[in-house]
Amino acid sequence: METLHIEGIAAPVSRVGLGTWAIGGSMWGGADDAQSIATIRAAIDSGINLIDTAPAYGFGHSEEVVGKALEGLRDKAVIATKAGLDWPDGKVLRNATAARISTEVEDSLRRLRTDRIDLYQVHWPDPLVPHDETAMELEKLRREGKILAIGVSNYSPTQMESFRRKARLATVQPPYNLFERSIEQDVLPYAKQHGLVVLAYGALCRGLLSGRMHADTAFPIGDLRKSDPKFKQPRFRQYLAAVDALQRLARERHGKPVLALAIRWILDRGPTVALWGARRPDQLAGVDEAFGWKLSDGDLRDIDALLAQHITDPVGPEFMAPPARQA
Ligand code: NAP
Repeated sequence: METLHIEGIAAPVSRVGLGTWAIGGSMWGGADDAQSIATIRAAIDSGINLIDTAPAYGFGHSEEVVGKALEGLRDKAVIATKAGLDWPDGKVLRNATAARISTEVEDSLRRLRTDRIDLYQVHWPDPLVPHDETAMELEKLRREGKILAIGVSNYSPTQMESFRRKARLATVQPPYNLFERSIEQDVLPYAKQHGLVVLAYGALCRGLLSGRMHADTAFPIGDLRKSDPKFKQPRFRQYLAAVDALQRLARERHGKPVLALAIRWILDRGPTVALWGARRPDQLAGVDEAFGWKLSDGDLRDIDALLAQHITDPVGPEFMAPPARQA
C-alpha cells in the first residue's frame, strides 16, 4: 500500500480510501449490513486505513455501520467524515452554519463509536453561510481535540482561499477520475500549490471503470445511476467503448485490468488519494494491482487520445450536487 501524510494525522494514510456512500443504502438501491461490515474489515486487512463516510450517506446509517465494523479496530483506521448537510424533510440540503456543525459532530462521534474524527470535511459549500463561520467552527473542534484535521469537499479555489483565512485546511475532496477531470483546470493546481491532499471521489466513476459493466447492465430501483446522464444511451455506449479501449491498453502494456489503471492514473496525478466505493469484500480483491508501477507520459497521451476518440458527448457529475436552502 502506498501512503501519504495528512497534516494533523500521525498515522500514514493509505492512498486508496474506502468510500462508504453505497454502504449507507439510500441512493444505491439498498445495502446488506453484514456484507458492508465485512467489506470495511477486508479493507483494513488489505492495508486500506482511510475510511470515508458522511452523515448524509443513508441519513446516519453509513456512519453507524462504519462504527460497528471498527469496534476493536479503531486505532487501525483513519476515519474521514463530513458535515454541512441537513435533511429536514428527508430531502438533502446544504447547511454549514456553526450551529448545525456543532450538533452534527456529536451525532457523528456517537454513530462512529469514537472520541475523535481524524478528518472532518465540509461536504458542500453553503452559499448562505460565510466561509469564516464554517471555518471557525471547525477550527474550534480541532482545538478541542474532537477532530484532528480539516478538509472541504466540492469547493472551488476561491472558496478555499476564503475558508483558509480562519482554518488550517489539510485536504480537499472533489470528483476526479479518468472521465471527470474538471479539477485539472483549477482545484488540482491550487491543491499542489498550497500543500493540500486531494481525496478523489468517484474513483471508478460509479462503477463504470470497474470494467464489469455492459450495455445491458441494469440498476435496482433507488440506485442513483438510473438518473446519472452517463448511464443513459446513447452516451452510455460511448463510455463503455472507452472502458474497453482502456482495458486493452492496460492489459497489453502493463498486464493489469482497467480498474487498476483507473486507480493508478489518479495516484500518478499528484498528492492524491483514490476513494474507491465498495460494498462487498470481493470488490476490493484487486487493490494490490494498483501499486508498484507507473503510467508513462506516452501512456497518458494515448489514454487522452482514446477518451477523445470514444467519448464525443461527455458529461460531468453535476447531477449529484444537493441544492441550497431557500434564502
Ligand atoms: P465509485 O468509487 O466510483 O464506484 C463505486 C461503485 O463501483 C461500487 O458501489 C460498485 O457498484 C462498483 N464497484 C466497486 N468495485 C468494483 C469491482 N471490483 N467490480 C465491479 N464493480 C465495482 O463511486 P462512489 O462510491 O460514488 O465514490 C467513492 C466514494 O467517494 C464514496 O463512497 C464516498 O465516500 C465519496 N464521495 C464523495 C462525494 C462528495 O460529495 N464528497 C460524492 C460522491 C462520492 P455496485 O456495488 O453497484 O456494483
